[in-house]
Amino acid sequence: MGGPGRQIMLGPMREDTRRWIEADKRHAWHPFTPQGPWTADDHEPLVIVRGEGPWIWDSEGRRYLDGNSSIWTNIHGHAHPAINRAIVEQLGQIAHSSFLGFANPRASELASRLTGLFPPGTLERVFFSDDGSTAIEVAMKMSLQYRMQTGEPERTRFVAFADGYHGDTMGAAALGGVSRFFERFRRFGPDVGFVRSLAGLDQFAASEINAVVIEPLIQGVNEMRPWPAGMLAELRDWCDCHGVLLILDEVMTGFGRTGTMFACQREDVIPDFLCLAKGLGGGYLPIAATLTTAPVYDAFLGDPVNAFYYGHSFTANPLACAAALASLDLFLTERTLEELPAKVEHLAKLLEELASCEGVVDVRQCGLVAGIELRAGLGSPVCLRARDHGLLTRPIRDTVVLMPPLCVEREDLDLAIDALKAALAGV
Ligand SMILES: *Cc1c(COP(=O)(O)O)cnc(C)c1O
Repeated sequence: MGGPGRQIMLGPMREDTRRWIEADKRHAWHPFTPQGPWTADDHEPLVIVRGEGPWIWDSEGRRYLDGNSSIWTNIHGHAHPAINRAIVEQLGQIAHSSFLGFANPRASELASRLTGLFPPGTLERVFFSDDGSTAIEVAMKMSLQYRMQTGEPERTRFVAFADGYHGDTMGAAALGGVSRFFERFRRFGPDVGFVRSLAGLDQFAASEINAVVIEPLIQGVNEMRPWPAGMLAELRDWCDCHGVLLILDEVMTGFGRTGTMFACQREDVIPDFLCLAKGLGGGYLPIAATLTTAPVYDAFLGDPVNAFYYGHSFTANPLACAAALASLDLFLTERTLEELPAKVEHLAKLLEELASCEGVVDVRQCGLVAGIELRAGLGSPVCLRARDHGLLTRPIRDTVVLMPPLCVEREDLDLAIDALKAALAGV
């Protein structure tokens, strides 16, 4: 098995496709993937070669609706001329320069655009990084160091929610509540307590808690489970009452997914740290941001030893910032948020129909994000079958994720639901 001379058996396909799959199976290692089944002879992975709007094409020329926005990243559709143009224009100037010691025009513009999305005097500072996980790492380190520099160094504990997900680097993973991913690394990480609901917060000494972290409105990786309405505002009050910092992970919910620009706006909550990534660059290039307040920022002034000694090589990459700016422009020119309610309502109607289909256990929706929970064992086969009907998505266990780019039209949503119905009927 697996020796360098092993023949990889594949069905009929284009020569290019065969070459790409063979090289992949020989040399690549995929995220969150048991590589045995992936490299098995009878597994023919799709090779994605092109995208336009909410559609993507594989190397065999088949078209699919991008049912999970290319793992929750894409906002305005693929190959959008405005975002492509912004990236190419920036590329003509410079692809990358260091944010360590230098400023760059796109990052200046993006920092002020992002803070401008919140009331004046709230989230005033932007610290850039590359991914959702790093946006969380920044919030963790910043909050701990803030405590050291404001006379409360004993506040070292984080509290996170059971089954939550905040990324895969060591710090972010420590906050993750999905035990099959994170349990084995627990003993290497920081002090994290887990709760299932707000009531659980009282089991910890509040004076030892540094920060509470939560995915607001809806937990993504936890099979798209929404929180009860009002819970976020209540959590903010609890934090204020006990001097605890609030970290909101809007890596998935940010940029319109839940119906408003940010999920926290639905309950008028301003966090102490807001973590953004996935949709920030429109889903075109990796870029992340951790936004924070003046009180936090001010604690890092004065003695240089108090500075935040943290950064990545590609921090504030100008190409990614250009993509993010173009994406924010599109929210205005295409009236993305104004167009959403009709789509969200249409999706709700379709999900209601789907809920009565054989094999569907539950449907959950928050904005243009849906989780369709199927009977045990149906998640993967239904998603595979749905491909034959033009829908590409992935399940989380037996919950099918439906989270198309915000630019989808209502008839595209019809296609997605029809594909799921046909797939359900076929398994
Ligand atoms: C995807 C995700 C992350 C991690 O982001 P990466 O860019 O994959 O590192 C963190 N939090 C939430 C809620 C996510 O959905």
